[in-house]
Amino acid sequence: MKRNVISVVKFLSLAAITVLFTIYVFRFLRGSRISDTPTSLPLPEKLQDVEHVQEQPQNAGEKIDWQDLKKIREESKRSGKGEHGIASFLSPSLDVLKEKLYQVNGFNAALSDEISLNRSIPDIRNSECKKKKYLQNLDSVSVVVSFHNEHFSTLMRTCWSVINRSPVTLLEEIILVDDASTKIELKSKLDDYVYENLPKVKIIRLKKRSGLIRGRLAGAHKAKAKVLVFLDSHSEANVNWLPPLLEPIAQDYKTCVCPFIDVIAYETFEYRAQDEGARGAFDWQLYYKRLPLLPEDLKNPSEPFKSPVMAGGLFAISAKFFWELGGYDPGLEIWGGEQYELSFKIWQCGGQMFDAPCSRVGHIYRKFPPFSNHFKGDFLGRNYKRVAEVWMDEYAEYVYRRLPHLRTMDPGDLKEQKSLRKKLHCKSFKWFMDKIAFDLVDVYPLVEPDDFASGEIRNIGASDFCLDSKGRGQDEDVVLDLCSKDNPDIQGEQKFQLTWHKDIRPQGRTQCFDISRADLKAPLSLYPCHGSQGNQLWRYDVEKQTLVHGSSSPRCLDADPGRQKVFVTTCDSSSSTQKWRIEKVNMKAMNNWEKIGPKV
Ligand code: UDP
Ligand code: MN
Repeated sequence: MKRNVISVVKFLSLAAITVLFTIYVFRFLRGSRISDTPTSLPLPEKLQDVEHVQEQPQNAGEKIDWQDLKKIREESKRSGKGEHGIASFLSPSLDVLKEKLYQVNGFNAALSDEISLNRSIPDIRNSECKKKKYLQNLDSVSVVVSFHNEHFSTLMRTCWSVINRSPVTLLEEIILVDDASTKIELKSKLDDYVYENLPKVKIIRLKKRSGLIRGRLAGAHKAKAKVLVFLDSHSEANVNWLPPLLEPIAQDYKTCVCPFIDVIAYETFEYRAQDEGARGAFDWQLYYKRLPLLPEDLKNPSEPFKSPVMAGGLFAISAKFFWELGGYDPGLEIWGGEQYELSFKIWQCGGQMFDAPCSRVGHIYRKFPPFSNHFKGDFLGRNYKRVAEVWMDEYAEYVYRRLPHLRTMDPGDLKEQKSLRKKLHCKSFKWFMDKIAFDLVDVYPLVEPDDFASGEIRNIGASDFCLDSKGRGQDEDVVLDLCSKDNPDIQGEQKFQLTWHKDIRPQGRTQCFDISRADLKAPLSLYPCHGSQGNQLWRYDVEKQTLVHGSSSPRCLDADPGRQKVFVTTCDSSSSTQKWRIEKVNMKAMNNWEKIGPKV
């Protein structure tokens, strides 16, 4: 009996040694990729445990090339309308249809119908991205797309782009949330198409219009995968878009990652870059803004960089972290403000947010919003108030100063949101401003500095004449006219501000004096203010009384009183038409020119 036991033990140890040896040789021959192909050797339970324990540290950090090179090659050979993201056009015979579909979509949906649902788009990633490897151990995703009356072909192209450009193992499902659409083609035609062609796509139908925020929440509740990816219903995922989004989440689940959002032109469906990255931010009216990359971000153009707020439409987040944060505040209505809510709580409650340059997704920025949301009143203001009250602490005041109607607005019940913040021991908004959005107030100060100068701008050579912008808009000229102070008949717009941005604008408006030509007599026109960079930069020389445009090759504002025209030209200190008197000059601000506003 005893001998038997000994020989069984001997046999087992020999077998175990053999198995271990086999595994070792296997691994040696195949690198350490053994874990992704289940071994067919039936291992005793104990050994499986050993195997698991040994595998973890070795494989957890292993990186692979996730790119589907075969697919990339196939796509490069495609030809046809809109392929490779090249701009395309409709025959004029379709003008009536084009107009009809524009009205309900805000983009050229008739053209979309002529472009393949599987079209190729240009791989415009930074060249470093093409060489990058990512962790082999990544969690799969549920892609959630909420839509209200989306055009059929753009919605399906969103799905196809995700399916075509995601590794099969990383895509669990796509959840389409129909936010009570009324378009007929989004009913059984959509069901049938999805049933026949898109087995990974599931459709959830909401009974009543609930808005983007609750639509996304409904989809996220149904999601099975460990990572949630939210997309707009008119997006196109680009080559190898998922691994760069997933790796930072695999390294720390309290992470949210946004792709670069490329532009799909609303008229031609051309696919192009918006820019090569910037950090998300906001101004104190809560308009979404962008801050420049930091020097360390610029050094590594293919590495994820920290971003204070997301643009909103497209991002990946671990489901665990999303739900720890309570998802979106379900009290937010329709659309808007949710990107701030989630961004603030990610940062303040112990998480982090990145933009991943190697993940790119195109989005159709509409020409105009096609559907009315007015049935909910000022839902955007109410959303902002909820976000400000729950997350922004004393900084809410700076929002209310600019949006005073929010002060008296009822934000609804905030108890749950506030107790969540307490429960998670989230940090203060001051911490967020100091540590994460630390350069925001340089560009968007809490309190706007006073104007450098304001009032009428009168020509000295022709002293009856003043600058006049006539209430005009983008690309229209600023002219010279009789000063309305002395000539009440003149119907003009003659009050201006030389603001702390170092731009000049008609009082209270956001159109700025702009020079778009480099020739000798470049006309003065208006263009939406863009922060005094480049061609909207002005300086008033109090002593010489000149208005100087630009910094690298400055030119002076001059007037032709006979033709009532104004333009910039070579500065000439002897010219009296190049001299101007601004009604009010704030000498204290002028003496601090270098210290205030943009450094130029
Ligand atoms: N959306 C929704 N319900 C709404 C409004 C919008 O599901 O009440 C969807 C919409 O179809 C899109 C996403 O939310 O997929 C974002 O909306 P939209 O594209 O209009 O916003 P934009 O990108 O223009 O800011
Ligand atoms: Mn959109």
